[in-house]
Amino acid sequence: MPSRTYESFIARIKEIRAAQSVQELLEWDQQTYMPKKGAAYRAEQVGLIAGVAHDKLTSAELGRELAELEREGDGGDDAVATNVREMRRLYDRAVKLPTRLVQEIAKATAPASDTWVAARKDSNFALFAPHLEKLLTLKREVAERIGWQTEPYDALIDEFEPGARAAEIQTVFDALRRELAPLVTAITQAPRQPNTALLKRAAPVEKQAAFNRTIAAAMGFDFDAGRLDVSAHPFCTGLCPLDVRMTTRYDEHALGQSLFGVMHEAGHGLYEQGLDPAQVGTPMGTYASLGIHESQSRLWENQIGRSRPFWQHYFPKLQAEFPAWADVPLEDWHFAINTVRPSLIRVEADEVTYGLHIMLRFDLERQMLAGRLAVSDVPAAWNERMKQELGITPPNDAQGCLQDIHWSLGIFGYFPTYQLGNLYAAQFALAARRALPDLDGQLARGELRPLREWLRQNIHRHGRRYRAGELVQVVTGQELSHRPFIEYLRAKYQPLYGF
Ligand code: ZN
Repeated sequence: MPSRTYESFIARIKEIRAAQSVQELLEWDQQTYMPKKGAAYRAEQVGLIAGVAHDKLTSAELGRELAELEREGDGGDDAVATNVREMRRLYDRAVKLPTRLVQEIAKATAPASDTWVAARKDSNFALFAPHLEKLLTLKREVAERIGWQTEPYDALIDEFEPGARAAEIQTVFDALRRELAPLVTAITQAPRQPNTALLKRAAPVEKQAAFNRTIAAAMGFDFDAGRLDVSAHPFCTGLCPLDVRMTTRYDEHALGQSLFGVMHEAGHGLYEQGLDPAQVGTPMGTYASLGIHESQSRLWENQIGRSRPFWQHYFPKLQAEFPAWADVPLEDWHFAINTVRPSLIRVEADEVTYGLHIMLRFDLERQMLAGRLAVSDVPAAWNERMKQELGITPPNDAQGCLQDIHWSLGIFGYFPTYQLGNLYAAQFALAARRALPDLDGQLARGELRPLREWLRQNIHRHGRRYRAGELVQVVTGQELSHRPFIEYLRAKYQPLYGF
């Protein structure tokens, strides 16, 4: 029997989430359908609702209820324990930050991101540098107020990857880098290389959209509980499990971009749709971490969407819809969609070199935050690392340290979650294969639901019951590791490139 306090607490935290989801809906609309001139008023609307959510999260009533529930104990109920533990974490983070600081950050990010757009356009880092400096100072204050044990960066990652520690991530990333570097060399120097030109054949945008929807639906994405729209930067946002919005972008000569983009976002979408609807608005009804979220998108996009069995079923269907590919053998298609090439831009990187882009950012932002790397030295440090790790030097800062929006929004500590997603995805895929020994056969027959169901039962349904590190342990029996990822890459790319 839940206590009166617990019932009141649940009603209260559901209101916080309802307010946040209104904000997310406004932001989704801003990226998809809002007319350009609506931006200024939209900023007011978002500011208002963000304030409502923040006030509710930091309210004295919530603090009193949390204290009372901690005295009462959870009575052995996992859901109660999770909801109290996670709300305590969010409440403590929020009340440690004075309104003055929160407002200062909000005020600093608007001009910073506007300036970043202009700086990137002109490849003028000096223009952006004072904004980066200012945001770093504010974020250092955030880290100090929240508190940390080993380094300030830990206080910031915690927002995206609860409980993660930079030093632990570094250990895994270092081990990964040691194996990744020779693999990239072997692939780029391999005698056999894919014919990438065949990816650029013309495919009408409306037909791409229809084909993508078919695949998302086959994955199990419920279009009565979600939408697929167009935006400049693809994303997925789950308002609740019954209303999940994802977006993509189309280019007539880049069919793969929208196709794999939709499989990626649908992977996120399935996670949101797979959360327990009875737990809407509580931590038990919330994704575990951004790294786990990204594992779901990467698993569908790469482990499945770039696999041979998947295309055994879907390539004939693609050829029927797009006659431009009628003469292409399945082998050539499969090879081309697995092109590996060191490149300048993170968001265009393949699954093998992607991690190198992330490790570079992870190291530089840690050094910046700790004051070991001056803002003015960022471009040089960036270019040096690119040369070292990927063997290429950016011709300008637009294609170097100015390429990502994150720092201009004051977001530090987010980047590692992308690569953690790749590592978790490989670990989960391995466990899924153990549980579904005929997975490749199912994929080759176009049966995607058994995998979707396995992910739902083993990952999605848990919400935030486990921290990411515990979840991977519970699901796979192993802790976070680079090994399954590296083994997956070797098994896939050695036969393809013939090295
Ligand atoms: Zn993603």
